[in-house]
Amino acid sequence: MAPDFLLPTNSIVRPDKDTFLNEVNPFEGMMSRFDRAAELLDLEPGLYKVLRHPEKQIITSIPVMMDNGEVEVFQGIRVLYNTSRGPAKGGIRFDLNVTLDEVTALAAWMTWKCAVVNIPFGGAKGGVICDPLKMSVGELERLTRRYTASIISTLGPDSDVPAPDVNTNERVMAWIMDTYSMRVGHTVTAVVTGKPVEMGGSLGRREATGRGCMLVTRDALKHLGMDVKGATVAVQGFGNVGSVGAQLLQREGCKIIAISDRTGGWHDPKGIDVDAAIEYVKKHKTLEGYNKGTAVTNEELLTLEVDVLLPAALENVITTKNAAQIRAKVICEGANGPTTAAADAILDEKGIFVIPDILANAGGVTVSYFEWVQDRGGYFWTEKVVNERLEDIMVNSFAAVLNLATQHKVNMRTAAYMLSISRVATVHRLRGIYA
Ligand code: NAD
Repeated sequence: MAPDFLLPTNSIVRPDKDTFLNEVNPFEGMMSRFDRAAELLDLEPGLYKVLRHPEKQIITSIPVMMDNGEVEVFQGIRVLYNTSRGPAKGGIRFDLNVTLDEVTALAAWMTWKCAVVNIPFGGAKGGVICDPLKMSVGELERLTRRYTASIISTLGPDSDVPAPDVNTNERVMAWIMDTYSMRVGHTVTAVVTGKPVEMGGSLGRREATGRGCMLVTRDALKHLGMDVKGATVAVQGFGNVGSVGAQLLQREGCKIIAISDRTGGWHDPKGIDVDAAIEYVKKHKTLEGYNKGTAVTNEELLTLEVDVLLPAALENVITTKNAAQIRAKVICEGANGPTTAAADAILDEKGIFVIPDILANAGGVTVSYFEWVQDRGGYFWTEKVVNERLEDIMVNSFAAVLNLATQHKVNMRTAAYMLSISRVATVHRLRGIYA
């Protein structure tokens, strides 16, 4: 059966939620949460239909001259899910597993994420189906520039602002910015975020997502009456989000007792020196051979007895298969979609306080917003100012979601969806339908 977002827009029957509870399908996972919040908000049927559909999906062929002189054709996707609150915002990933379904789900997620922290952006996502690890720098540059050219009609600081995602980085953003600038005839730094600081990037962007995780975890512990100092933490994923999150939580006095990456993990009840582990990874690329504490698998790490679990690697790691074994009191979703929709109910039953991804990892897009503001104003802030403004937004957003959760007696995820959907819905009501 075709995914729901491809069904005719005149289908008026709300789908049975169970039909959509396919455990790991990203679009269905997102939609089952959306449906629950929409029902609690008593969203009017017309608006419900509008918000269940992406605004625009571009699928494009990207011919690239490879280094061996042969032409390869790649498929590129850009989805603008909703732009009612402002320009579309969302990363571009280069990966063999990119699908329209996944990109659409991620674009919807970006819509809710920007709305939950109340920044004036809509949501988008893009991807190119390719294996970047097997491509040369020249091939990647040609791919990036041709992809940029083929989606140029949507791009622009007022319409669609990409950022790095899986297997793309500041260098790729620099190529997109240059290609766009060449096409419009002048330099437009605000067309992408996550750029090198030397060409309009923001100080504090690299640490922003991990910093946001630290801030909401700190507030969650305080809300639960738990001491931040001495709280034990396990971190899955030791890349940008996980390592910075662990480092900043340690600075707040938490005890990081387990860390992991794709090579496996390490558990030390006495506490891990995060700065030393970061230095180890800088030198050796991964945690393999770190040898401090006891080796644990990624699966074991998730079920350790800790105060806080920070999944910061992959989607769909907490499922109906392991949710019952999770012993953390707080889960801070640093990764996008680490918990399946079906696992939510099990975590709820166990009384685990989940800080949902659209709130927990929104620090990154918040500082992307700051980058866009700085580029447009041509005036750059100190890192201290960036961090202070990020803290204001994260603290206020956490409080707003918690307030709604308490008021409606729902969990933090449902409250976060309710808050963001209601913000997007309000703008739709005020704008009306253009005909
Ligand atoms: P990254 O590439 O810097 O780090 C990913 C980490 O996960 C690495 O340590 C890697 O070894 C580990 N990993 C990969 N496969 C694994 C596996 N099977 N088991 C355990 N660990 C594994 O990525 P990142 O930027 O830190 O992003 C991590 C997550 O956070 C992703 O879900 C991403 O979408 C999400 N996120 C990132 C940002 C950001 O600003 N970087 C913002 C919002 C959300």
